[in-house]
Amino acid sequence: MIVALAGGTGGSKMVHGIALAHGQRDLVAIVNTGDDGDLFGLLVCPDLDINLYCLAGVVAERGWGYADDTFRCLEGLATYGRDAWFGLGDRDLATHIHRTLMIQGGARLSEVVDDLRVHLGVEARVLPMSDDPVRTIIATATGERRFQEYLVRDGAREEITSIRAEGLADAAPAPGVLEAIAAADLIVIAPSSPIVSIGTILGVPGVRDAVAARRDRVVGVSPIVGGAAVEGPAEKFLRGAGYTECSARQMAEIYADVCSTFVIHESDEAEAAGIEALGVRPVLTDILMPDRAARERLARVVIGAVG
Ligand code: GDP
Repeated sequence: MIVALAGGTGGSKMVHGIALAHGQRDLVAIVNTGDDGDLFGLLVCPDLDINLYCLAGVVAERGWGYADDTFRCLEGLATYGRDAWFGLGDRDLATHIHRTLMIQGGARLSEVVDDLRVHLGVEARVLPMSDDPVRTIIATATGERRFQEYLVRDGAREEITSIRAEGLADAAPAPGVLEAIAAADLIVIAPSSPIVSIGTILGVPGVRDAVAARRDRVVGVSPIVGGAAVEGPAEKFLRGAGYTECSARQMAEIYADVCSTFVIHESDEAEAAGIEALGVRPVLTDILMPDRAARERLARVVIGAVG
C-alpha cells in the first residue's frame, strides 16, 4: 500500500501520478484540511476536492474545480453584492452543498469524503487529516485573515509575519490515518507546501511521530526547484514561518526527521551534498509535473526510490 500526504495543487498532481503508475486500489491519500473554509454557509474543502476530482478524472484543465463548470451561481451572488472572489463553479457547488448537508446531519468529515469518493467513482481511499476543524490563519502587518482570504481574495501580496493553525493542537487524526501510516509499504510526502499543507498534516497530534517511525519507507518530493516554488507563494509561507532559505536542501531539512529519501530536480544537483549531510538520501530527476505523462513518470521514480 502507498500512502501519500498531500495538499492541493502540488499534492494532487503527485497523488494523480501515483494513481497512474500504481493504480488506485492500494493508494491512500491523507489530505490537508487547514485550507478549509466556510463560504455562503457551505463547508468548502479545497485540498480534499482537488484530490478527489483528480482521482475521479473530472478535474478542470486549470487544475482545480470541476471540468467544464459554469459560474452562474457565483455571478448571481455578485449581482446581489456578495463576495465572489472564491471560484465556486455550479457543479462544484453540488459537492459543497452535499457535504454541508451531511455534516449538518451529523456525519463526520471522513464519512462525507468517503461518500463523495464512492459517488465520484474513486477507488483510492481519501482521508482528511482530521475530522476536527483546523483553520490556517495568516498574520500580516495589517492583521489576521483566513488562509483563502490571504491567498485568493488578497492575492498573497503582503509579507507574512506569522502563521498559526487554529484547532490543530486539539485535533485528532481521522479514523484510518495512523493505521494507514503504520501499514504503508511506502509513504510519499508530495511536493506540497511544507508549511501550510504538509506541515499542518504532520502537526496533527500523533501524525509526525507515526511518520517518523516509518522514516526508512518515506520519500519526499521537493516543491522547490532552482531556489523558487514551481508555482504559488511558497516563499512567502516559508519566510512567514521563519525560514530565510528557499531551497530543495531547506525542504529536506524540514523533513529530515520524517523522511529518509528526498527527490529533487536534476538541475539542483549542487544541493545533493547538503541533503546527504542531513542524513537524507537525495534522488535527482525531473520533478515537474505539467501533464499526465510527467506525473506518472515521476511517480515511478518515487516508488522505485525506496527498495
Ligand atoms: P495548495 O494546497 O493548493 O497550496 O497546494 P500544495 O501545498 O499541494 O502545493 C503547493 C506547492 O506545489 C508549491 O510550493 C509548488 O511549488 C508545488 N508544485 C506545484 N506544481 C508542482 C510540480 O509540478 N512539481 C513539483 N515538484 N512541485 C509542484
